[in-house]
Amino acid sequence: MDINTCFETTSFYHTTAYYSHLIPVAIALFLGVYTLFKTKFSKLAVAFFLFSLSFSIWLINDVILWTSQDYYKIVFFWSWIDYIDVLFFALGAYFFGVLARGSISVVEKILLVLLCVPIFIFTVTGNAITEFYHPVCEVISNDASVHYKVFAEWGAVALMFYSLIVVLFGKLKKEARLPIILVFIAIILFFSTFSITEYFATLTAQYEISLYGLFVLPIFLMIMVFAVTNLRIFHIRYLGTQILVYILFIMIGSQFLFLESSTDKTLNVVTLIVAVLFGYLLLSNTKKEEEAKIKIEELAANLEKTNNKLSQANDRLKVLDKQKSEFLSFASHQLRSPLTAIKGYASLLLEGDYGPLTPDMKHPVQVIFDSTNTLSTVVTDYLNVSRIELGQMKYDFTQEDIKKITEQIIDELRPNVDKAGLQFKFSYDPGEYVTKVDKDKIIQVITNIIDNSVKYTKKGMITVELKKKANNILIAVKDTGIGISKENLPKLFAKFVRAGNANQTNSRGTGLGLYIAKDIIEKHNGKVWVESEGEGKGSQFYIQIPVAK
Ligand code: ADP
Repeated sequence: MDINTCFETTSFYHTTAYYSHLIPVAIALFLGVYTLFKTKFSKLAVAFFLFSLSFSIWLINDVILWTSQDYYKIVFFWSWIDYIDVLFFALGAYFFGVLARGSISVVEKILLVLLCVPIFIFTVTGNAITEFYHPVCEVISNDASVHYKVFAEWGAVALMFYSLIVVLFGKLKKEARLPIILVFIAIILFFSTFSITEYFATLTAQYEISLYGLFVLPIFLMIMVFAVTNLRIFHIRYLGTQILVYILFIMIGSQFLFLESSTDKTLNVVTLIVAVLFGYLLLSNTKKEEEAKIKIEELAANLEKTNNKLSQANDRLKVLDKQKSEFLSFASHQLRSPLTAIKGYASLLLEGDYGPLTPDMKHPVQVIFDSTNTLSTVVTDYLNVSRIELGQMKYDFTQEDIKKITEQIIDELRPNVDKAGLQFKFSYDPGEYVTKVDKDKIIQVITNIIDNSVKYTKKGMITVELKKKANNILIAVKDTGIGISKENLPKLFAKFVRAGNANQTNSRGTGLGLYIAKDIIEKHNGKVWVESEGEGKGSQFYIQIPVAK
């Protein structure tokens, strides 16, 4: 018999050892390397790789202890396994710190290194193990070293708890916290099972305890796979998930090739079922998420394109609109002087300044005068609109008596009212109606509204009322005219809007008067509005101007 071979071997356990160690090694190393390359060596991936590597070295060490019968090998691998163990815990804490907080402080790093120093000293001085029990190939560990190991392991776990607390009380969003908490649970579950089973195994020298303890490993790794792929702690996408899941299936499935005992086979079946269910969920979830993401990305790209086009079109429209307003302003100015001349001379002709007109001439000259009048109102309206749009409407505020202004307007419009055969009533509450306004513009607004009532009333009565309401002057112009339908009420103050029934009584309107009136009154911090019961039921227009303090 070879002197270097143990008499009684642990070969009975060797398949279990393979099963519980080799799959995790393969998965951990694969995950570590995969994430390292996929994320181009990100800090988190490097931390994770070191964690997986130390863990894999420990597992390979341990599998040798369980399967080898070579005396020297066993002693050698046993002598430094505790050091690797502490290193693995420290790297786990470091990885979790980076995941949870982006990085850990220098003090924490020093603490982690310090945790590893004593066990390192035990190891290199050959004090980690005290004796070798040759017949069964088992090492007797140094008690101090075993206890220190547990202390160091829980030191690392404490640091993980600290990282978790920082995350829980930090500003991270709920979705970002979830993967971190999940990874924390996975590592803690694994670390505590690992540490506790190891400790009892060493204390009782029943090393199988630690062997079976490692069956929680696949669960830990599955959670890690889930976190890496589905929760994207490394921002890796669907393809990665697929590869990882299939590799997991193959690894677990391939174990059937060398599993012997029925317990092991049953364990493997259970693991395979869990993995298949888990993998299916993982893949379908990731796929859905991925498809939704692609759709959203496409939509976002389309939206951006459309937005760009729209904003270009909008810019172009703004330029055109400005050009239109400028043209309008220019044309109106150019039209104004000849119109004034035509109107002036027609008026002089009508008044007989160039000698009496023959009855034949009177009508045509009157038509020239009326038409020029209409045209000059249109031109003035256009000019006002272009000024409003170019922001060039100038205001000159002076203290004015609104009652006086209204009376003057009524005097001027009275001939039109009489001509239309309408009754007219002006009433006012006693009191002062003085406030700061741009006189010409207020005259324009009040004239337009009373004039509209005359134009849109065939028979009946027009009433103008002047009231004081709180700190406002209210001018109400009511008529018994054609009225306004419910649909048209909210639109009347927009540009170029004329109600369908307007042409019955006045075919020459532009639909600009009320638009201009609204802008002018708003510049006085006032309000203008209309009420009507409907078509044929008359209208009531209100102008409200605040009394300046
Ligand atoms: P215009 O009278 O030149 O058409 P306005 O802007 O002054 O333009 O008026 C817009 C529209 O509001 C009119 O075309 C008409 O349909 C409606 N309107 C204005 N005043 C009255 C009123 N007193 N009664 C009924 N409809 C009116």
